Amino acid sequence: MPDSYQLVETKLQQPLENGDVVCNLCLWRCRLRHGQRGFCQAHVNRNGTLYNLSYGIISAIEVDSIRSKPVYHYRPDSRVMSIGSYGCNFRCKGCHNLEISWGVEALDKLARGQSSDAWVTPGQMVETALKHGVDGIAFTYSEPAVWLEYVLDVSKLAHQAGLFTVYVSNSFVTDEALELMAPHIDVLCSDIKSLSAEFYKDICPVGTAEQVLSSIKKAVELGIHVETRTNVIPTKNDDPDELKRIAVWIRDNLGAASPWHITRFFPAYKLSHLPPTDNTIIDLATETARAAGLQNVYGHTDISCDCASENAPVSAWLDLDPDALNQINTCVASCCGDEGILVKKFEREAGLIVQAK
Ligand code: SF4
Ligand code: SF4
Repeated sequence: MPDSYQLVETKLQQPLENGDVVCNLCLWRCRLRHGQRGFCQAHVNRNGTLYNLSYGIISAIEVDSIRSKPVYHYRPDSRVMSIGSYGCNFRCKGCHNLEISWGVEALDKLARGQSSDAWVTPGQMVETALKHGVDGIAFTYSEPAVWLEYVLDVSKLAHQAGLFTVYVSNSFVTDEALELMAPHIDVLCSDIKSLSAEFYKDICPVGTAEQVLSSIKKAVELGIHVETRTNVIPTKNDDPDELKRIAVWIRDNLGAASPWHITRFFPAYKLSHLPPTDNTIIDLATETARAAGLQNVYGHTDISCDCASENAPVSAWLDLDPDALNQINTCVASCCGDEGILVKKFEREAGLIVQAK
């Protein structure tokens, strides 16, 4: 595990003879040339090897009840330290958390060698969790699949320290990634945004309901405790029949006791014109799901997304000198040069390469 900021080789990469690399962490399976970043913006191909730009980069920390994730059936009285980085493999039209979840500006700064975001080793992160007296660590705010190298290193140390781990995800991940994480992740809290192909096409293009459902089933097969969540968006996925179909799918595929959380939408981004979800819709969906035989259905009128916008600065949580924590993050390896510029388009802007290869 590195002890200062540097690029870390990603898991599940598949180098090709021409220098391209395929990333098999999420279902995009991006194929990248030298200097290109993946859809998530967090991974870059440098001369035929794929690296994670955001290993150890922390965008937000918060301590609260595991119920806020929402997770109700795993250690229900426990508290977790939630942490996130930057990057997501979706671009949902109603995303609340763009600066962190997509993190385009923050990841661009890392790629330019100009970021001073907090960098925290896995060991320091686990020590921080222990200091705050929590029972587990939750990876949330951004999509953990695009930060998996750090998630795994923190999770291994967390388990050694007696802490459990929670992974909050859109489940657009590969079976291979799930197999890698299964020994180290105790709980998956996953979105089921809809069962409709039109919804995914309209609201979070590229993903399909079948892919997401298949990943959730795989997580259950691997022995991970799974709780699912549907955020009900007016006019998009609030049809009572569709919500009932989700309940029936969970009952038939994850089991009648599998917990399902139904949350309200609040206007954001390209769906700012829509109203917040009416509580009567949440109540109706909850009753319908229970009537369909799903035993543990939780309608939430107070939780929407697991956002981080109101959190205290990362430095407030750590026993570290803020100046040391927020130094400019340039990779300690020498291959990128003193400027630490990592992406070909920025190399060109900086005059480090004259002609495209
Ligand atoms: S994790 Fe990122 S680079 Fe890898 S396949 Fe997904 S979007 Fe592409
Ligand atoms: S809503 Fe969730 S899955 Fe969609 S873009 Fe935002 S963080 Fe990613």
